[in-house]
Amino acid sequence: MKLDTPAHSSPADAAARKAVAPVICYPVDGLARPDLAPFHAARAGWRRVSETLVPPREARCFDVPAGHFFRITSVQGPQVGDLNLWAASDLSERFFSGKTRALHGTHLSSGDRMWSCLPYLRPMALITDDSLDWYGFDAFGGSVHDVIGTRCDPYTHNLLGGGQYHHCCHSNLSRAVADRFGLPLHAAEFAVHDVLNVFMCTGFTRDTGQYFMKASPVRPGDYLEFFAEMDLVGGLSACPGGDCSTLHSSDQAACHPLLVEVFAPLAQPVGWAPPLANGYDRTHGR
Ligand SMILES: [Zn+2]
Repeated sequence: MKLDTPAHSSPADAAARKAVAPVICYPVDGLARPDLAPFHAARAGWRRVSETLVPPREARCFDVPAGHFFRITSVQGPQVGDLNLWAASDLSERFFSGKTRALHGTHLSSGDRMWSCLPYLRPMALITDDSLDWYGFDAFGGSVHDVIGTRCDPYTHNLLGGGQYHHCCHSNLSRAVADRFGLPLHAAEFAVHDVLNVFMCTGFTRDTGQYFMKASPVRPGDYLEFFAEMDLVGGLSACPGGDCSTLHSSDQAACHPLLVEVFAPLAQPVGWAPPLANGYDRTHGR
């Protein structure tokens, strides 16, 4: 956030310096944009193999084998979900919100991938369908499914307002990870990471650059669909903010469940292969 009254005056060439056009940090021309047609074709005849109903203000983990699809669907009412992903074989390989944002932008949709953290950096999941893709960006600069927020957590809540609140997404995911992996709660907490904010409508204010949220446009029946590129464990929290129109980190917002369904296709999408290890040799110059 910028100061209203800067400590330093503008240099003579300030206008010229500010007029320099931006360049994209990570041009993704070198990353093959996936052709979604084979993935959509693979949905024909798929078989639903599991479903998990995430209760309001709670989280649940779910397993998705490589080559399967999973869908997160809004049921009963508008609700935001905080999504974590781990490699099923190794909890230390997890979703990397920051680099995914650097590669694909602030909000994800069909054709974008969810990348794993360093030193792995390979695709964990591909978004294959998004019933809210019509939303684009609104007049406030807001859009859905962001990778700019982190996850609501009780430490920030305590820092800003004091008090103990136990159903922030961070705590919900911590409990779910502890249950899924049989870990003590405090060990499980370290596996929780920055999320994909499914269905959340967010942006940055143009004047102060602050993270904002507004009522999610999601309605029951809307979904976000993924293809698992590796064996995954997902964790999804039904955020205590509900549709995130006003409050989070409290029990005051109307909250609804979220449905997670896993589907096994009859055959793998034509042309798909599991991701290789990242090509960097990890010698770091030594
Ligand atoms: Zn939350």
